[in-house]
Amino acid sequence: MSNLIKIQLPDGSIREVAKGTTPFDVANSISPRLAAAVVVARIRPLTPVALNENETSLEQSEEAMYSGPATSAERIVGLSTPLHEDVSLELLKENDPAALRVARHSAAHIMATALLELFPETKLGHGPATDSGFFYDVYREVPFTEADLAAIEARMADVVARDEPFIQILEPRDQALADYKSDAEFMKIHFIERFTKPGDEISLYRNGNFTDFCRGPHVPSTGRVKAFKVTSIAGAYWLGDENNQQLQRIYGTAFFNAKDLDAHFKQLEEIKARDHRVLGKQLDLFSIQEVAGAGLIFWHPKGGLIRKAMEDWMREECIRRGYQMVFTPHIMRRELWKISGHEENYAENMYPPMELDDAEYRLKPMNCPGHILIYKNSPKSYRDLPQRYAELGNVYRYERSGTMHGLLRVRGFTQDDAHIFCTPEQIESEVEACIDFAEAVLKTFGFEKFIVELSTWDPKDKKFIGSADKWENAVGSLTRVLDRKQIPYKTIPGEAAFYGPKIDIKLVDVLGRLWQLSTVQFDWNLPARFDLEYIGEDGAPHQPVMVHRALFGSVERFFGVLIEHYAGAFPMWLAPVQVGLVPISEKHHDYAKTVQHRLEAAGLRVEADLSNQKMNAKIRDFGLQKIPFILILGDKEAASNSVSVRVRAKGDEGSVPLDAFIDRAKKLITGHAMEL
Ligand SMILES: [Zn+2]
Ligand SMILES: [Zn+2]
Repeated sequence: MSNLIKIQLPDGSIREVAKGTTPFDVANSISPRLAAAVVVARIRPLTPVALNENETSLEQSEEAMYSGPATSAERIVGLSTPLHEDVSLELLKENDPAALRVARHSAAHIMATALLELFPETKLGHGPATDSGFFYDVYREVPFTEADLAAIEARMADVVARDEPFIQILEPRDQALADYKSDAEFMKIHFIERFTKPGDEISLYRNGNFTDFCRGPHVPSTGRVKAFKVTSIAGAYWLGDENNQQLQRIYGTAFFNAKDLDAHFKQLEEIKARDHRVLGKQLDLFSIQEVAGAGLIFWHPKGGLIRKAMEDWMREECIRRGYQMVFTPHIMRRELWKISGHEENYAENMYPPMELDDAEYRLKPMNCPGHILIYKNSPKSYRDLPQRYAELGNVYRYERSGTMHGLLRVRGFTQDDAHIFCTPEQIESEVEACIDFAEAVLKTFGFEKFIVELSTWDPKDKKFIGSADKWENAVGSLTRVLDRKQIPYKTIPGEAAFYGPKIDIKLVDVLGRLWQLSTVQFDWNLPARFDLEYIGEDGAPHQPVMVHRALFGSVERFFGVLIEHYAGAFPMWLAPVQVGLVPISEKHHDYAKTVQHRLEAAGLRVEADLSNQKMNAKIRDFGLQKIPFILILGDKEAASNSVSVRVRAKGDEGSVPLDAFIDRAKKLITGHAMEL
């Protein structure tokens, strides 16, 4: 056997190196500067390994922290991991998200090091990285105080300053268990017993005097975790059982530099300031009322105006794009939900049946069966297709109490739902039109970036119905459309609904957060269940293809996203009040009324403050409502039929003729302008 292995670098070049060479050695042979900059490595065997069918992304799971070696095709390894097989090797620097995750997990080790130095009686649970930082679950009879957390954070700085290398130690399982038993480390014992087998070698990592049961990977040394903070503490029961010990979960976050850490906390503040629940109250847009029930939304007059603007735009666009608007009942007989399969597969998400006369009824969780009944109500020929039915349909779904969240997760909401019934030949153009429409929604409402995911089937998984032909035809149409429109997308095999492939569009908001909104979904299940037909050119009956699509997704949720995206400062066309009028004193009230009438006649939403407050107080009040324009009206303005304009976030622009202001305002509205 050769003692050499092949290492393929991202540029495609292949190096032959001795077995046992580490990623660090490879980096160092390229340049010592590179070796100093890399954090971890991503490797993938050059000879494909057979993947265990049940294997999910090991990297994310709890198991990944302990059991090994990973059989994943691709994995992240520490720089000192000896390589024994032919691999492709990618050296990851600090700008890689995977490297940051490793740094955060390493920070959890650093925190545990500090914790045991200060509070040696503490028993350790586990300390994974999270999407925004890390935590460590620990057991100590005495609760940690704020001062303790500050002391831990200060000691972590010492551990980082000591720049202790993370060194892997492989130990016989019995030995490790015996050591942990003698220290009564009940959680470590549990993890070893659960995630390893008798006879295994146990992977431990040591930095300085601290050793932890962990498979890795970690950054090369503690000094690489340059910026961190211990953020909070929460209680949790060991293994989630309230009869068990009460653990303390200490949260922190870590970055490679102080700049990123600061930016992270600024972003958190920004998220807090934009919270739609807070702004919704402050701007009097909506409420959720205990007496009416959780997860049910009351749209107040100002929220209602925004909703009307959203819905008007959506309905007009639907009609312009060849949809027909329909309305369907909120409750329908249980029989219908049996035919549609909801009784069988979706009942736990539905409100319970209610008895009425001789039948049972259920609130609708989806609009599809209603639209199907409209399609089915008269015979269709190929000349009638496609039929595109759209509805802003209210649906009710049961969400567990405690899972509701403002407008984002509710029990009653409105889908901008549409169902397209078409021939297989029409699929591609219909999908293309849906994608165009989705793009128009995002652009109109001020989102520049979005991410597209294509969920397809897994031919080996029996849950997927429909022939391979059908799947290939539908997936082929979807990919051709995305390719032709040069939209980058990620394919997710096996993630489709059992009845057909789908495209999901996630928008990226102003803070870089992702929101799942639009979806375009194929379905050959419901047309079969309801025996849908059209008469083809050949004179014979055929089954139409059905496409479900929603673009806002839920109007409530989209509204919540908009509130946060704009921080409550809506663009002119959506702002519930577009212009606030501030007469300087009572003698300008008449002119204010004249201006108000002129603006309202031009279709603008106006509020005049005719109270006896001081001018500055009126301006401040309108400012708090985030009204786009405030017009100040005094002697000069009244004499010249003009208005003095203050623009939201921009300030005083001086006097302009009233007509000129009306022109400007109308242009902003009809153009759906984002800026003022
Ligand atoms: Zn670790
Ligand atoms: Zn549907």
